[in-house]
This record gives sequence, structure tokens and C-alpha cells, in this order.
Amino acid sequence: MSSFVVALDVGGTSMKGGLVGRSGEIILTDHCVTPRDKGPAVVVGAIRSFIDELAVAGGGTPAGVGLAVPGLVTADAALYSANIGWRDVPAADFVPLDVPVMLGHDVRTGGLAESVLGAGRELSDFLFLPIGTGIAGAVILKGEPYGGTAGWGGEIGHIPVFPNGETCACGQIGCLETYASASAVGRRYSARVAATPTTSGTPASSAPFVFPATPASAASPVPLAVPVTAEQVAALTASGDPVAGEVWDDAVEALSLALATYTLLLDPSAIVLGGGLAEAGRLLSDPLAERLQSRLTFREAPPLRPAVLGVRAGMLGAALLGWRAAGVPDAGATWPLDVLKASRVA
Ligand SMILES: [Zn+2]
Repeated sequence: MSSFVVALDVGGTSMKGGLVGRSGEIILTDHCVTPRDKGPAVVVGAIRSFIDELAVAGGGTPAGVGLAVPGLVTADAALYSANIGWRDVPAADFVPLDVPVMLGHDVRTGGLAESVLGAGRELSDFLFLPIGTGIAGAVILKGEPYGGTAGWGGEIGHIPVFPNGETCACGQIGCLETYASASAVGRRYSARVAATPTTSGTPASSAPFVFPATPASAASPVPLAVPVTAEQVAALTASGDPVAGEVWDDAVEALSLALATYTLLLDPSAIVLGGGLAEAGRLLSDPLAERLQSRLTFREAPPLRPAVLGVRAGMLGAALLGWRAAGVPDAGATWPLDVLKASRVA
């Protein structure tokens, strides 16, 4: 058997690829653009070419190929992706070589990596929750991601948290993602600032005008370009900006509602937070842990843990799938975490 697999994490804007050995050694990593604007057939062709390039760089035929892809997916086919636009693509269409291949859902594959290699290594049941442009979770049961009957499992971002709230891009009302994704936090802060009259204008209400205790410019001496990022809202929140604080609090409130529901339903041993918003660290996890516990009257809240594999979780999960396709189902059990975390993904 060949000594390496090709692993690919296919996102809407870029693909992260790697060659990973039998003992977890990362032989190389590379990335390329996902040509999404050219249509799904071109994307499938680009994936084939990228896999071929990686295999050639490895100096031979890989033992297997693992692919993490968005949308509805089984181990043998990419059924549907609104993001990329493909329908019913068999796994073999992605691979230019006659080698075993296994597909996985992008978030669940990242969750598999955190389960086998990362923050969930000693855990059996947990939620992997990356909070980025959107929110989707990987429900991990007995160490394995659970996708449900049709593959829609884990769509916690579209749990309604404020039933009379804002309309989500999905068409439902008050979804978690509308309040707590990194893009929602930036968008909601930008909207509030845009709607606030400037101090040089006439106050909109008839209430007596009161000078603020601190000038509005104190928290942000340089005018922020719109749209504002979640990272900037986090920094403003930390510096005491009241508008940013409200937007941040809404995100924490929404997350606490969704996680209380998840906890009561599935009794996880932990919740593993990842993605861009989790980069805020304790600014997010401290109030969230407190709020979550305050909602649960008769049981302890599960601990919140930071994800440890970062942006390479999907690629590492794909490597596990590649080894499973090659007939090595226990791949990853002995892979050293320090090596996996050591070098930054290309
Ligand atoms: Zn929604």
C-alpha cells in the first residue's frame, strides 16, 4: 500500500489540499481557488486536476483520497450544493486515478478531525460548532459525526431562537445564524451605526439632549470602514462601545438559547467552539458559559472548549476519510497532535 493519501477540503472560495502519511505526518499542503463562478463542471475538473497535482508531488499513487465538500453528501456522491451548484456527482468523478475515495460533509469532516485528533479526542459525544460566515454544527455521537436521515443533521444555525425576530437568508424567522454568525455580528453592528444620527445632526427624539459620558469617537478614533467585521465588533465590545456590546450580547443570547436546546436534547460532554467568532476567546466563551448555565436549572451545562485544529480541520478530516477508503479504519488514533498543529496550512 502507498504511504500517503490525498486529502482535500473543498470550500466555496478555495480548496485546501494535503498529502498525509499513515502515521499522520503531513508531507505537504497546498491550496488553490475554487472556480465557482465558472460552474459546477469546471469545479469538478479543478478538483480532479488538483488531486492529480498533489499525487504527482507525492511521487506516486496515493493509497486513497478523502474529500470534504459542502452541501448534501454521502460517502459515495456529492448530492447537492447550493454554494457550488452541483447535483449528483459520483465520488469517482472527482478522482483522476483508480484509487479508493470517500467523501464527507465539510463541517462533519472537520468535526471528525476534532473528534479523532483534536479537542474531542477523549470525548464520545459532543457538538463541534464552527462559527464563521454561517453556522453549522457537527453532532458527534460515539466519536462519529451524525448527519441524520437525509444529511441535513447539524443545521443548528437555522434553529429559531427569536421567533419574532429578523428574517434569515434561508427564509425562516429568527435563526441563530441571523444573530450569531461572524458575518451577522458585523452586519448588525454596521446597520445600527448607519441608523444612528451623528452628534453634529439634530437629535431625532424630543428628549433633552445629554452629552455622552465618553465621546463617541473614544472607542474608535479612526472611522471604521463599512461593513465592519466581527473581529472589529469584538474589539469595540472589549473597549466598552455600547452599540457593539448590544450586538455582541444578542449573539451570546442567541447562542445560549440554541446550546441550551442542544444540551437538553443530547446531553453532550462538551461543546467545541471554532471558526472566526471563537477567535474572540473568553470575550465569547465567558458570557456564553454563564448564560448557558443560567438557562439550565436542573443540570450542569457542558463545558465550552476551543477547537484546536483551526482552518486545517477539514483537510485533516479528509485525510482520515482517505485512509478509511484505503482500508485503514482506525487511522488517526495514534497521530500526534503537536505535529498536526505545528505547521500552518498553505
Ligand atoms: Zn435560517
